[in-house]
Amino acid sequence: MKKELTDITIHYHECDLTYIDNIIRKLDEKGNEIIQFFNLEHLENHLNIYLWNDVKQFEENVHPQHSYTIGKTNFKNHRIDILSYQEILKREGHDHDSIDSIPYLILHEFVHICHLQYAGLEYGCWVSEALATTISGQYDQEPLNMNCNLEHLLNGTWYICYATIGKYILEQYGREYFLKLAKDQLFAIQETEHLYEETKSWVMEKNIQLDKNI
Ligand SMILES: [Zn+2]
Repeated sequence: MKKELTDITIHYHECDLTYIDNIIRKLDEKGNEIIQFFNLEHLENHLNIYLWNDVKQFEENVHPQHSYTIGKTNFKNHRIDILSYQEILKREGHDHDSIDSIPYLILHEFVHICHLQYAGLEYGCWVSEALATTISGQYDQEPLNMNCNLEHLLNGTWYICYATIGKYILEQYGREYFLKLAKDQLFAIQETEHLYEETKSWVMEKNIQLDKNI
């Protein structure tokens, strides 16, 4: 089955019927916001989003590096592959994922697609995950958490920490600065250590405030 949106085609199966409308609504609501964040007018290339109800087909298309991977952006072919909800639940560490997380998972990958168009090259730095987790709104309901070390931040998949540092960057430095990090990887690497330290203190202070209010 297929749904056609402006610049996007979603390929899905019967098992996705319960949440497909929610995916489309969220893409409508937040897709433009994400495009505008990067000062883009529209997607340069048509985007295909594939929902896989068969983990074998997913793995054949995605070649995931980790057993917990549930979605991936393919920059070269301009496509996003994600697992259907019933298959996500079977994946390592995902047995408690909510059905409402599916549209956010797609928005997360959609940020990666827009980031590539903005930066003009494949970007391999933690900033891309900070952007994807923050602008998608994926962790907006989760408490701030910076319980990773600098090494984890640079090499890991500590998504909640990426979302936290992303929120800090937006709140304290603003969108233009975030975009500068998103464009210039060398600059991002130079800025990493102080951003990490500042975010840690910021989270600690926020938690002290929260404790005081209780
Ligand atoms: Zn990502």
